[in-house]
Amino acid sequence: MTSGSTLYSLTNGVAVDVGTIPLSGLNGTTVNKQIAVLVGLGTVNGSGAPLLAVIDISQPYVPGSQPPYTPASPYLPQPIGFLPLSANPTDVVLDANTMQAYVGTGSNVLVVDLTDPYNPVSGGQITGSFGTRLALDTNGIIIAAGNVPSATTTGSTVQTTTIPTTKCGDVRDNMIQEYQTYNVMDTVSGGQYVSPGTPFVPACSNFTQTSGSVDFPFDQLNTGDFPNWAILRNVLFAGLDTMQQACWDQLGPAPAPVCNFNFRITSGYRNPSDNASTPNSGQNSRHMFGDAADIATSGQAQWNILRPIAKSNAVNACVEPYSVQKNYAHIHVEWPDMNSLTDTFTCNSNGRTGW
Ligand SMILES: [Zn+2]
Repeated sequence: MTSGSTLYSLTNGVAVDVGTIPLSGLNGTTVNKQIAVLVGLGTVNGSGAPLLAVIDISQPYVPGSQPPYTPASPYLPQPIGFLPLSANPTDVVLDANTMQAYVGTGSNVLVVDLTDPYNPVSGGQITGSFGTRLALDTNGIIIAAGNVPSATTTGSTVQTTTIPTTKCGDVRDNMIQEYQTYNVMDTVSGGQYVSPGTPFVPACSNFTQTSGSVDFPFDQLNTGDFPNWAILRNVLFAGLDTMQQACWDQLGPAPAPVCNFNFRITSGYRNPSDNASTPNSGQNSRHMFGDAADIATSGQAQWNILRPIAKSNAVNACVEPYSVQKNYAHIHVEWPDMNSLTDTFTCNSNGRTGW
């Protein structure tokens, strides 16, 4: 199966589990999807790798079905998501309650987040000497047995551990789900969060309820649908502060440009659903990464004053080209994946149809 530019193939299955998980669609509906999770060995772009595959088995199999699949009868089980694993798998259990899969390896137990089964992501691991075989009881206890002898006996022992909760336990879980639903990718090389070209699934700790500066407080920078939470990186309000100060400092006799106004942010942090409903927004807009903002401009003259300030050494922002924006209602500035305003960075507008 091809996902994005990655070609996955699972050729040697080791273990499988099945279950039903609720799946929320883009239109707000929820369907219960019967899936199988299969672990084993396969290839990623031709290189051997341990893998987990999610198989859609939500319709009855029709004997004699032949590929290619068409969305009607006859029906074949369909692989819908893949995740390379960090160790060779020995067993897998699917936990429909937490929408996670636990993968036995004979030592650590790998946790896979299946909140979006089309994009399974790592949920970390439970470190320990767990046996190769896993089971899950109704109280959410993982039971492991197999190849781990005790210190005093030659037979294998049984280990138990409680399931980990990778959820934030508040509305951030919904926000994180949006990043998976909209398949937000970090396209910036040297990515702050993940390597370029891979999905960006924020952690609970990436969100803030307070970050901002005196001139650009949280409430002004958070323009998303969730008033109490946003991703806002320090480099964003440091950049805006520096740019605002540079604007004020331009006050003086001609020919210094008159830049004596207070910036008004028309768009700061956007959650993916908000971004998707914003006209001319980029599919992987930095507004969703907390390092971009739009500053209102009254027209071309003000836009032309602000651009060189944004591009000055002190501010060091990437600016959306006029050729993309095609109006002068705001100037989009961003500091993609930079940790400080002095980071060297090559702004890249290749292939971007929206910022
Ligand atoms: Zn923008």
